[in-house]
Amino acid sequence: MLFKDVVGQQAAKQGFLNFHNAHRLPHAILISARDGIGGLAFGLAMTQFLMCEAPSADDACGACNACVKMQKLVHPDVHFSFPTIPPKPGSKAASKHYMADFRNAVLENPYISTFDWLQYIHAENKQGNITAEECREIADQLQLKSFEGGHKIQLIWRPEYLGKEGNILLKLIEEPPADTYLILIAEELENILNTILSRTQQINLLPVGYQDIAAALTSRLQLDSAKAHQIAQIAEGSYGHALRLAAESGNDLLSLMKEWFNGIFTNKGVLINEWVEKMAKTGREQQKSFFMYAQQMIAHTLRYSNITGYQAPLTEEEKVFAQKLAARDYSLSVFQHLDEALTRAAYHIERNVHAKTQLLYTSIQIQYILQGKSL
Ligand SMILES: [Zn+2]
Repeated sequence: MLFKDVVGQQAAKQGFLNFHNAHRLPHAILISARDGIGGLAFGLAMTQFLMCEAPSADDACGACNACVKMQKLVHPDVHFSFPTIPPKPGSKAASKHYMADFRNAVLENPYISTFDWLQYIHAENKQGNITAEECREIADQLQLKSFEGGHKIQLIWRPEYLGKEGNILLKLIEEPPADTYLILIAEELENILNTILSRTQQINLLPVGYQDIAAALTSRLQLDSAKAHQIAQIAEGSYGHALRLAAESGNDLLSLMKEWFNGIFTNKGVLINEWVEKMAKTGREQQKSFFMYAQQMIAHTLRYSNITGYQAPLTEEEKVFAQKLAARDYSLSVFQHLDEALTRAAYHIERNVHAKTQLLYTSIQIQYILQGKSL
């Protein structure tokens, strides 16, 4: 993974390079990044940069022996630990049993979520774990000489899964063997021991910018620009989430919104029911995305009705829809109630309510709000 393949995160890249160029890079680094914004991708790019035999000022070369091995995740001096489950009943969870799976899953999608990873190894409802035994093996392994004479790097993806066992690594973090880096990649700092936090240098990744997500979707997935912007708008800074949305989005969200409002405005129960049936057949993610999208469209509509000359970051077709809705001159409280209803709908869908009931309930609610009636 090269830095140029990490979506956005310019400030964090520069921060890392500054430390490196000033020879002040600490040996224990904790990357803090919430799900989908690229902690693992960034950690892999950092590792490849550190291992590269001919790096440029701001990235690995991508072509040397070390880079070729890193790009397949088979460099003998780069070790990985991540949450796993016991491979068979009675055995202990250990990353070494799942290296082939990890390579495949991460090379396929370096933005993979921990949940998707655990599903990838068929954990079903079992909790992932990084065990005390694995911590001891990490410590032993890093005492050995490197295979290729350069640095040794240990990546730990999701140190939250260490729990208290993390204390076994303290000595290693405090006094790492020569030429050794420990890179921890976390999402929830509140679930990491303070003893670890206080001994590592943190690199914090921020949510990915809207433009960066849209540009990556256009250039890497060949999505058309309108679709890429639509997805970027509801991905909330998570490129991982944007990838999931892109994979699922057979449905055009604006068309769905038009059909919905058409049923609501014409007060035709049959149209609303058709819409509910159609939406109920899509997945929960898609339903949640739809409500978030509708919320964004309502927010733009509110701005159109209140800000003269408002320039919305929307496609031409979306602008027409929002402007038509704005022309109906709703009061601010109508907008507030719409926003609340859509927020609640997304919230309940996420918590597994009966989808069809929720879709119908929200439709009726929106209809009442737009007609100025109380429920
Ligand atoms: Zn290289």
